[in-house]
Amino acid sequence: MKLTGIGASEGVAVGPAFVPATGRPEPERERITEGEVEPELQRFHAAVETVAGRLGQTAERLRASGSEDEADIFDAHVELVEDPELASGVEERVRDLQSPEAAVLAAGEEFAAEFAAMDDEYLAARADDVRDVTQQISAELMGRGTSDFEALQTPSVVLAKSLAPSETARIPKGRALGFVTAEGSRTSHVSIMARSMGIPAVVGVGPSLEEALDAKTVAIDGNEGLAVTDPDAQTLAEFERMSGELADERAALDEYRHVEARTSEGRRIEVAANLGSASEAEDALAWGAEGVGLFRTEFLFMERDMLPSEDEQYEAYSAVARAFGEKPVIVRTLDVGGDKDLPGVDQPHEENPFLGWRGIRMSLDTPDLFKPQLRAILRAAAHGNLKVMFPMVVDVEELKAAKALLEESRAELEAEGAETGEVETGVMIETPAAAVCADELAQESAFFSIGTNDLVQYTLAADRGNERLGRLQSADHPAVLALIRRICEAAGAAGIQVGVCGEAAGEPSMIPKLVGLGVTELSMGAPSIPRAKKIVSELR
Ligand code: PEP
Ligand code: MG
Repeated sequence: MKLTGIGASEGVAVGPAFVPATGRPEPERERITEGEVEPELQRFHAAVETVAGRLGQTAERLRASGSEDEADIFDAHVELVEDPELASGVEERVRDLQSPEAAVLAAGEEFAAEFAAMDDEYLAARADDVRDVTQQISAELMGRGTSDFEALQTPSVVLAKSLAPSETARIPKGRALGFVTAEGSRTSHVSIMARSMGIPAVVGVGPSLEEALDAKTVAIDGNEGLAVTDPDAQTLAEFERMSGELADERAALDEYRHVEARTSEGRRIEVAANLGSASEAEDALAWGAEGVGLFRTEFLFMERDMLPSEDEQYEAYSAVARAFGEKPVIVRTLDVGGDKDLPGVDQPHEENPFLGWRGIRMSLDTPDLFKPQLRAILRAAAHGNLKVMFPMVVDVEELKAAKALLEESRAELEAEGAETGEVETGVMIETPAAAVCADELAQESAFFSIGTNDLVQYTLAADRGNERLGRLQSADHPAVLALIRRICEAAGAAGIQVGVCGEAAGEPSMIPKLVGLGVTELSMGAPSIPRAKKIVSELR
């Protein structure tokens, strides 16, 4: 069958289908009968054994590859799965005729609440782990296999209703050939991640995805926004032809990888990469990145169950700083909230998370989380050319408060005798408020970077993840362009750099407009860099 949606990341791929049972599964049955109690209890214990076995294998695999800390996490999950208190909670409910798939979720919720109420921050954070493992047991009981991407062993096309960043971040490198999702738009995080990974994505295919979930093979065309399940021989041949053509096109752009992009009248435009983890640095350099225009550090916090310590963050930031040497690396501080949950931190339920406690708002309210990050950045700055950037700022007051915490962190480090480096501080301009106040913000900033993904959604009042709002999800709108002009003028008047790190920066039709408005840097998913350099070089 054919699924049509939004071509959110270019390229074509054909491969086996993988359907993760992500999120909280809906129990198929709530109740069982008296006669089913014993067999259902046996099924529950068998499911526990299967899930524990699978998690144990993952721990072994991680340990064998030297990832001791991650292996410990999976060992701890095995213990939770096998916890006698959880088992007795389930047994009691099943004897009360609740189905085991519903009982394990309910018992898990109760167990999680006990953890969440603990004073110890580490133990409180285990609540999410309990939910995670009980959801896996419930999915196993319903024959839906694992809810974890750890089971993705063969490179596959992932089909899912939606994919949260915390889920995509767990996919082992090279295992996803492409994404097909029912929900989402070009600027959803699943699309952004696909572009960074250089794999095709078709998002927003709608409810028809439900009917495709039992497909064996999927062919995906991220340019056209088309996915074909169980393709026939003719379709396969067509995909092979397209794949060859795209490879030729990419090869033809190779000569642009390492050029310095200049417009015909000699204006230099820096073309940089957006990174989601330190491990992407080498690839980005190979694509020709002249720096990092946006390091989304929240992904570093998301790809694991526990928050990274200051030292772990320092290692990650230092690795990128070292890899890029003198080239600038803009580290964006934690941007959690909206569609980005942080495992290990209990976020309040919000009616409108994109209008809620996200970005700098949360960071300023939680110095325990924010200051270790600032300290790690300042320490890592000793090893390269790091800059720090604050997300979701709406006024100068927030910027000043963030800068004050940065200075406080520096003073502490100096008192401790720790080595630190200089960092310039800049602001992401991604709210209409920041765009309107750009003159004032420029007085307190060393640079601006325009986050068009959020700037578009907040300016046009159009949720960036809603598949029905395609027309309103482009920066090519007079209202957005007017704001970008204003931001560039404010930056120009103050003599500071102004980049774009939203998805518009890599879009061929937007690049001439952005450069024309005065943007001095474009930052994008690394595979788009050679083409962007070519477009800039041909501008007049
Ligand atoms: C943006 O909003 O344009 C941006 C780059 O940040 P994110 O996509 O991570 O919200
Ligand atoms: Mg943003």
